[in-house]
Amino acid sequence: MIVDGPALLFVFLIGLCVGSFLNVVIFRLPLGQSLNHPPSRCMACGYALRWRDNVPILSWVLLGGRCRNCRARISMQYPIVELVTGILFLLVVWLTPPGPLVASRLIFVGILVALFGIDLAHQILPNTITLPGIAIGVILSFIAPPGWQASLIGALLGGGVLYGIAWSYYLVRREEGLGMGDVKMLAMIGAFLGWKAVLVTLVLSSFSGALLGMALIVLQRGSMRLALPFGTFLAIGALAAMFAGDLLLAWYAQFF
Ligand SMILES: [Zn+2]
Repeated sequence: MIVDGPALLFVFLIGLCVGSFLNVVIFRLPLGQSLNHPPSRCMACGYALRWRDNVPILSWVLLGGRCRNCRARISMQYPIVELVTGILFLLVVWLTPPGPLVASRLIFVGILVALFGIDLAHQILPNTITLPGIAIGVILSFIAPPGWQASLIGALLGGGVLYGIAWSYYLVRREEGLGMGDVKMLAMIGAFLGWKAVLVTLVLSSFSGALLGMALIVLQRGSMRLALPFGTFLAIGALAAMFAGDLLLAWYAQFF
């Protein structure tokens, strides 16, 4: 745990810059576009952004959320993703014991932000992120918690449980409720966090998904269908499991 103010500020600023890159990933990767070419442009007028238009959060605020050239609105997504990534980086470094686990969690958090944004915007969880994510999670578990056994079991359990649920849902309803992207994403979460966290993630994301679904039904009298793609709930559940999983399991265990 690091509580050194300047160090934490530095980590936060690094997180903002990583968030800036994740914005590019969220916008371009699902469209099959290159991540580094062409350089960022205004989507309305094609104005090529210069460095002063690309400073995380600050540029967006100073320009009032509009293009410097044509005054077209720039999506709120940009500053939000940057801020969230900055805060998550800060929390990871603050709450994680120093060592390889810090690096593992920073990578994991970056992947989760990208998957959350892409699933929200495009309703897909690209294989180009989830499959390498599983491999990276397993590889890192050889030098960091949860250890390679828990990581492998986590990947198999995460993928297996969700595959089973998706399959049963299909048998009962004859329609696809969960995609294979969700299956691979939970396998990846298991690879990074281990099998215990898979169970915590699954409970938390199903619970928050159901809660939001019910709230929407009450407010809008909508249907029982999920209003948000399940990958967004998996990302939130995984973050909660990472930061508070041990606390939640200890709390749960006291009832037995
Ligand atoms: Zn413009």
